[in-house]
Amino acid sequence: MTRFDMIVVGGGPAGLTAGLYAARAGRSVLLLEEAGFGGQIVTAPRVENYPGIPRLSGSEFAQQLVEQVLELGVEVELERASAIAQEPGAFRLSAGERAFTARSVILATGMKHRALGLPGEEALTGHGVSYCAVCDGAFFKGRRVAVIGGGDTALQDALFLAARCDRVFLIHRRDSLRGEARLHRELRRRENVEFLLSHIPEEFTEMDGQLRGLVLRNLKTGQRHNLPVEGAFLAVGQQPQNAAFAPPVALDNQGFVAAGESCATNVPGIFAAGDCRCKTVRQLTTAVGDGAAAAVAACHYLNCLET
Ligand code: NAP
Repeated sequence: MTRFDMIVVGGGPAGLTAGLYAARAGRSVLLLEEAGFGGQIVTAPRVENYPGIPRLSGSEFAQQLVEQVLELGVEVELERASAIAQEPGAFRLSAGERAFTARSVILATGMKHRALGLPGEEALTGHGVSYCAVCDGAFFKGRRVAVIGGGDTALQDALFLAARCDRVFLIHRRDSLRGEARLHRELRRRENVEFLLSHIPEEFTEMDGQLRGLVLRNLKTGQRHNLPVEGAFLAVGQQPQNAAFAPPVALDNQGFVAAGESCATNVPGIFAAGDCRCKTVRQLTTAVGDGAAAAVAACHYLNCLET
């Protein structure tokens, strides 16, 4: 079995950047990714806050980064890493039916979208309920849709959908939005966008297994009403997915890997990068910054083992 210098778990911007830095340092790297490369950024319609690149889509960004990493000789496997075990001088990662070993590991597992948890949500996913406006928005051309959430994802999704749909309802539980003010201003200028602040969805209504509306509650008045929509885009945040690696890796009380700016975890030789790490700012820029920092720290760890 090949023993790599480094295994990177997760093929989003943090993991890909870690692979890029480690490969450029002459290290053999295996990158494990369970679904598709690029992570959450693939679903971003527009990236406009990456220094030096005024505007491109998230999928373009991801594609260029993946090509750059593959050209450097990083090996990739489409497998979900399910456990990590310590062996003498190495770590063993279980992935599907297989196992891979390396002397260092970088966890860059990102986050997964959060569900609202309403009855029928799972069954209606793909039948009107979606977590990705970029992936599914085209199906709702000329229709009425709702976006639920008040963060950057919700605002970007609403803008993306406003250019395609007849009417977009932005539903948020508070009376102010947490997303970027610039996106908010841009949305306010769209005539087909309606804000339903201080509202929460309490039920999905459906016909023949297809979404037909949302029952909303106005949190200020307590009144409920049915909002007819054919699409509901849920953008209510993300949650980490690190449980498979704890133990041996220590997590904080929200499930993020307990690692500081050095990206070092409680286990020497295991590092964490990007959204999966406990931190305050989760952005593309901070993810790639973490990827670089974790790879440099992991290379330093390997250099120390070798001297
Ligand atoms: P987020 O910032 O955590 O926002 C989630 C939103 O969903 C919040 O407005 C939250 O309400 C609401 N929410 C959470 N649980 C809910 C529930 N059960 N019912 C109703 N509403 C609920 O998540 P995000 O928008 O996915 O962004 C994640 C990170 O990526 C952030 O750091 C964000 O800045 C970054 N991002 C950046 C960009 C960009 O262009 N710069 C684009 C996308 C994402 P409250 O506000 O009341 O908490």
